[in-house]
Amino acid sequence: MKILMYNAVPEERPFVAKWMAKTGHEVVTLSEPLTVDNAAQAAEFDAVSTQQTIAMPAPVYQVLADNGIKQIALRQVGYDVFDLPAAFKHHLRLSNVAAYSPRAIAEYTLTQLFNILRQNKKYERAMATGDYTWAAGGQAREIYQLTVAVIGVGRIGSAFAQMLHALGAQVLGVDPVYRAQNEAFVEYTTLDDALARANAISFHTPLNDETRNLADQAFFDKVQPGTIVLNMARGEIVDMAALEARLTAGQLYGAAVDVTPNENEFMNQKQAVTDLPDNIQRLTQLDNFYLSPHIAFYTNTAIKNMVEMALNDAVTLTQGGYTDNEILR
Ligand code: NAD
Repeated sequence: MKILMYNAVPEERPFVAKWMAKTGHEVVTLSEPLTVDNAAQAAEFDAVSTQQTIAMPAPVYQVLADNGIKQIALRQVGYDVFDLPAAFKHHLRLSNVAAYSPRAIAEYTLTQLFNILRQNKKYERAMATGDYTWAAGGQAREIYQLTVAVIGVGRIGSAFAQMLHALGAQVLGVDPVYRAQNEAFVEYTTLDDALARANAISFHTPLNDETRNLADQAFFDKVQPGTIVLNMARGEIVDMAALEARLTAGQLYGAAVDVTPNENEFMNQKQAVTDLPDNIQRLTQLDNFYLSPHIAFYTNTAIKNMVEMALNDAVTLTQGGYTDNEILR
């Protein structure tokens, strides 16, 4: 089988080569995301795969279907990039890699929580000017003293909750789906109760109608002064203007985001700092705001799994088979 792999990054190539050697299938990589302009390139292939944060609008599915493609295998979790009704209208079967390494994102969330707690950005900036005093930052709290609200206790949220629990923090879980196996380390509660009690709030939900702008002004009105906010899930979950207002007003202890609503304007690109969106330029000036370039997933385990699982799914779905990773209508 011949598979066209869109938006392939250099780190994926060794795993692609190993997969080809193991399975005997052929993969051709493109460095551009799948768009309406390049969808017709799939004509000479049996299957396609992509990983991208740029949405695939309705005409993409039409072009793929017209060229005999039966599926799209996403090499990532977030499938909000698909126009599902449009894809299903053209009988395309879709898959994502729902769990290539939940621990990768959980560990990064923990990393940023520690960075905020320790005021590392303040210290780094002070040291860059030769200021090596304790006073450059401030006394930290230790993690066992925290109550952390995990909003969305799915694959990543559960992994994060387990780590927090092992470190002695109290974990409050908010999720419409109850998972009995999490009882040992999560106290399930309502969103309002979690906001009233938490010292840190971390989002691990998908982006959907309920979670879009979940953290808005009214949400922040309910949190304790000095709360930490972590968003490694999807940018649109947090109203960035509301977050910025609360950070500059000193109502939050700090925030770390790996994702922003406008990330397609600057993430995964090199640009002058002055070309960054205005809000990003302002936010990154703050000592207690941590921005990272959508890298929470970025570990060797995750890259291997996202390549191998998506390519396996591309073959399976094209051959009419079944995979747990299929996105069902
Ligand atoms: P998951 O489907 O396993 O878990 C999501 C959980 O959120 C589910 O348990 C679901 O019931 C819950 N949920 C849905 N709506 C909710 C609501 N309104 N309130 C509370 N909980 C709600 O997903 P996952 O694999 O854990 O991924 C979580 C998020 O992480 C996704 O948004 C994904 O796109 C993102 N992600 C980010 C990166 C990164 O590199 N930053 C990498 C992978 C995934």
